[in-house]
Amino acid sequence: MSKTLAFLLISALSAGAQPGSISAERIREHTRFLSSDLLEGRGVGQRGGDIATAYIATQFALDGAKPAGDNGTFFQKVPLVGVETTPGAQLSATAGGQAVDFKYLDDFVGVSQRQTPQTDFDAEAVFVGHGIAAPEWKWDDFKGVDVKGKLLVLFTNEPTSTDLAFFDGRALTYYGRWSYKYEEALRRGAAGVLIIHTTPTAGYGWEVVRNSWAREVPFVKLAPGESSLAIQGWVTREAGQKLLALAGQNVDDLLAASEKRDFKPIPLGIRIRGSLPAKVRALDSRNVAAVVPGSDPKLKDEYVIFSAHWDHLGIGTPVNGDSIYNGAIDNATGCAILMELARAWAALPQKPRRSALFLSVTAEEGGLKGSEYYAAHPLFPAAKTALDLNYDALYPWGRAKDVVITGAERTDVYALAQQIAKRLDLAISPDAQPEQGHYFRSDHFSFAHAGIPAFSIEHATEFAGQPPGYGQKLAEEYNDKHYHQPSDEFRDDWDFTALEQAAEYGFLLGREVANQDKLSGWRPGDQFHR
Ligand SMILES: [Zn+2]
Repeated sequence: MSKTLAFLLISALSAGAQPGSISAERIREHTRFLSSDLLEGRGVGQRGGDIATAYIATQFALDGAKPAGDNGTFFQKVPLVGVETTPGAQLSATAGGQAVDFKYLDDFVGVSQRQTPQTDFDAEAVFVGHGIAAPEWKWDDFKGVDVKGKLLVLFTNEPTSTDLAFFDGRALTYYGRWSYKYEEALRRGAAGVLIIHTTPTAGYGWEVVRNSWAREVPFVKLAPGESSLAIQGWVTREAGQKLLALAGQNVDDLLAASEKRDFKPIPLGIRIRGSLPAKVRALDSRNVAAVVPGSDPKLKDEYVIFSAHWDHLGIGTPVNGDSIYNGAIDNATGCAILMELARAWAALPQKPRRSALFLSVTAEEGGLKGSEYYAAHPLFPAAKTALDLNYDALYPWGRAKDVVITGAERTDVYALAQQIAKRLDLAISPDAQPEQGHYFRSDHFSFAHAGIPAFSIEHATEFAGQPPGYGQKLAEEYNDKHYHQPSDEFRDDWDFTALEQAAEYGFLLGREVANQDKLSGWRPGDQFHR
C-alpha cells in the first residue's frame, strides 16, 4: 500500500470514525465518580448536587466547550422552592361517625403545592375514576360534575386499551401520568388529589412512590395569586381499600367502573381531613450548559441539544441501612455520556454547521423541573432549536444489538435515525413497556411540550451473546429491585459497551441533524407540531 493511500485511508477513517473515539472506559469512570458515596446521591439543594454540577462544568471547560449559562458561566440558575412534608403529617377520613386514620409513609404520602409551612384541609371526597377528560378519545370522567373544592380520589393510568385508535393502544398517553391528574384537578379547582396506588396502575411499587414524595420536592415558585392543590398525594392500595370501605365501595369494583366510558364521578359521602406540616425553603438549583459553536455563519444560531439530568434522590430514607441514593444507572450513566459527547464534539477538527448545546438539567426526579425551566427560559430560542436528544438511565450490560428511540417517529429526523442505526448495525426496537409511558417521564418531554423535536436514546433491550429478551429481563429486575432505591449503585462487573454505542449513535445523529440544510421539525399533525 502506498504511503499516500495509507494516509488517505487513515484520514478517511478518522474523519468518518471520529465518534469511534468515544470511549466506554471514560463513560465508565464518569459514572463511577458521579455515583460514588462521596456525591451523596446528587440531591437537588444538597452538597452532592453542587459537586456533581461543578464536576460536569469542569469537564465541559476542559473539553474546550464554551460556557452557555448566566453571565458567562456554565450554569443556568433555576430558582425552585423545596417543600418537604415532615413526619407529623396527618390524614383521616370520616363518614357517618366512623373514622379511619392513615399513617404517614406506611399508608400515605403527600405534599402541598401551597409552598407554606402548614397546610390544612377538610373536604368532601369524590371518586373520579382515572380523572381524565380527553375529547380526542371521547372520554370524560367528569361528565360536567363540578369538583371545585373537592378532594378527588382516583387511580393513575388510563382505560385499558389494545386499540391504537383509543388511548394509543397499549402505550400510556400523557393522560395516564400522575402529573396530568394533578394538573387537571387544579384546572377544575379541586382542593386536592389522592391517588390510590396499585402496582399495575402505577407501573412501580409503593417504595418508589414513598421514596419519591417523602422527601424535599422541588416546585417552580408560585406566582402571586396562582392556584394550588392542598395535597397532591398517594395512598397505598390497602389504605385506599379502607377509605373506600367507609363509602361501601372497594378498589376492585371501582377499578372496573373506571374502565367504562359511561363512568360518572361518585360522591363518596366521606370527608377527608389532613394536616401537612412542611419544611419550605428557597432552592437555588442550576442547569449546566456548554456550547460548541457551529461552523456555518448563518446556521450557527441554530442548535442541537444533548441533555441528561444530573440530579438523583440525594440522601433519604434508609433502606437496609443505606441512606445514599446513588443513582448510578439513573442518571450518572446519562451524564457520563453527555460529557463524553461534549468532549468528542469539541474535538472535531471540522465543526458541524449548527451549534451544539450540552445541557445537564436539575430536578428531573422532582417532576422534570430543570428541563421545564429551560423550556420556559431557553438560553437559545426554541424556534431555532433543531432537536433535543436526551439520555436517561442506560444499562451497562454488554454490547447492544438495538436502540430504542420512542418518539423519534414523531419527528422528521426518523429516516436519518434509521440510516444511522443501520450503519452501526443496531436494530430499532419498539419500547418494550409502552404501558409505562416513558415518553412522558424524562426531560425530552419538557422540550417536546415547548415545541422542540425531542426524544431519548434509551437503553438497549437485546444484547450480543445473550438470549432474546435479556435486556428486558434485566430491566424488569432493575425496575423491581433498584429503581429509585439506594441499591442503584455502581458495579465493577458492568460492561459499558452499550453506552459507548448509544453515545456514538447520538453523536452521529446529532451531527447529521446539525449539518442538514433544513431545520428539523415534528411530523405534520403531531400533537407537538410547532
Ligand atoms: Zn432519570
